[in-house]
Amino acid sequence: MQSRNSLRHSLLLAALLLGAGTALAGPHLPEGERTAEPAAVPVAPLKILTTLPVLADLAKQVGGEFVSVDSLALPNQDPHYVQPTPILMKKARDADLFVECGLQLELWGEKVVSGSGNPKIQIGQPGRVIASTGVQTLELPTVLSREWGDVHPYGNPHVWLDPLNAKILAGNIATALEELDGAHKQTYEDNLADFRHRIDVALYGAELVDEVGGRKLDRLAKGGRLSDYLEHRELTEMLGGWLAKAAPLAGRPIVTYHKTFIYLATRFGFTIPIEIEEKPGIPPSAKQRDRVLGVMREQGVRTILQAIYHDRTAGTYLAQKTGAHLLSLPIDVGESVGVPDYFAMMDNLITRLVESETRKD
Ligand SMILES: [Zn+2]
Repeated sequence: MQSRNSLRHSLLLAALLLGAGTALAGPHLPEGERTAEPAAVPVAPLKILTTLPVLADLAKQVGGEFVSVDSLALPNQDPHYVQPTPILMKKARDADLFVECGLQLELWGEKVVSGSGNPKIQIGQPGRVIASTGVQTLELPTVLSREWGDVHPYGNPHVWLDPLNAKILAGNIATALEELDGAHKQTYEDNLADFRHRIDVALYGAELVDEVGGRKLDRLAKGGRLSDYLEHRELTEMLGGWLAKAAPLAGRPIVTYHKTFIYLATRFGFTIPIEIEEKPGIPPSAKQRDRVLGVMREQGVRTILQAIYHDRTAGTYLAQKTGAHLLSLPIDVGESVGVPDYFAMMDNLITRLVESETRKD
């Protein structure tokens, strides 16, 4: 009796242990895929640090589960002026990849990197990404001016407000990830393709993307020939997405504070006759304000557009004088500014601009 009991006890114990072992090894694996090899140790995600939250969002879209992302700037901070503090330098110390927009937008970023002492992310290393590489830069000065106040010496750096540029930025991040982490190359490529497709659908509408293809639509849009093409092929009705929604903006003059919105204006067809800002970081003089007032009255400007971090005093004054709407909107992403990702940010910009331009009062 004694021995039989003890045998049954042993068998029960063995069954329990076997069950526990199976559970530990991963119960989701189909029978055939269980091998004698130890379960793969999960690899720590690549640490991506970006200057701006919008770049962190793009990196997340491309890197997916294999990356962790963080950014130095906050979405309500002017990307030109961030203090390169020791706290930010510490953040950069163990980053595998450092992503910046470039075009001298984030001069403070280089100070953070050099202060971090992290060799992987110094200029020229595979862990350093200039995301704007390959973007067709607008407002490139014909003569490189070192005059005080020239904050865009290599052309306008606010490139991400054109969705077609967002695809390029994401592409540069994907290329760097593939180089650093070849084992997941296919996933990064797939994630990038998926992101680009979602941009296409958001920009042109699903139906038109299915009919013409994103690549061709991009070529046409970049060449300024999209409307002609659609008209010629009798496809105008098929255009959806942000471009269809933004139709009321075509040709409208919109005043902005800083030269932040040239890429948005170029893609969605509005003009920017004048900026409120005369010299970067300095509130406009009364003379400049009156100059803007004159242009607004002359051209019938209905909307003043500025980023949330810019001072509203001049814009409020101009809006009161002319009856125009002052829109103070996020141009970067984050829960704290109400636009959690790139798509939400663009949706918000287009929606608010169209509302302002089509209101009846
Ligand atoms: Zn700027």
